[in-house]
Amino acid sequence: MSNDYCFAPPAVVSAPVRGTAARFPIRRIFCVGRNYEAHAKEMGVAVDREAPFYFTKAAGDYVPSGATVPYPPGTGNYHYEMELVVAVGKAGFRIDEEAALGHVFGYACGLDMTRRDLQLAAREQRRPWDLGKDFEQSAVLSEIVPADQCGHPASGVIELRVNGQTKQSSDLSLLIHGVPALLAHLSRYYHLEPGDLVYTGTPEGVGPVVAGDRIEGSIAGVGGIALAVGAAE
Ligand code: MN
Repeated sequence: MSNDYCFAPPAVVSAPVRGTAARFPIRRIFCVGRNYEAHAKEMGVAVDREAPFYFTKAAGDYVPSGATVPYPPGTGNYHYEMELVVAVGKAGFRIDEEAALGHVFGYACGLDMTRRDLQLAAREQRRPWDLGKDFEQSAVLSEIVPADQCGHPASGVIELRVNGQTKQSSDLSLLIHGVPALLAHLSRYYHLEPGDLVYTGTPEGVGPVVAGDRIEGSIAGVGGIALAVGAAE
């Protein structure tokens, strides 16, 4: 009986992959903060061009594109953040920037959904951001596009619309820390593993959504993502 569990363990969380029935098992979710200058400015903070910083979400926060999620508990200011997501496919530690793209499985569109009031209150009090960032159904993800289908996008339009109205429109070339730099930096602190995701940060134009809103995002060469906001539970 030593192999039994006290209760059923959680199922493996996984995302669909374009062009195959095989799914991408999600291991960890890293998110980069303030990686576009204009977004840092709208948040009232300076960017650090020397080094990125991170927060994390639990893999169980994953929700697939196309879902309807309830307006989350504990917030009155629920925000979208449209982001390019890197899916890691090969383990690495202290990866050289020149070799970093060899560790990428593919790319996806992501929404780093945020309880902005709780995040800003935590920031103000110098507390961790978990209540604002790491909550159920806060990590929205499109299908993952293998890099052999989409290449390694370093430029191209990244956009988000709410109810058909454009709210975010920028270009991947404006990322302060690009994908190779992020993987090189992050792997100085973690042993990256297949299944890790990196949400690379959002451009300017973040804002609130309410029940009944429909969010749609797109990244040139990668694809699209959608989320509908339902009533609070
Ligand atoms: Mn973000």
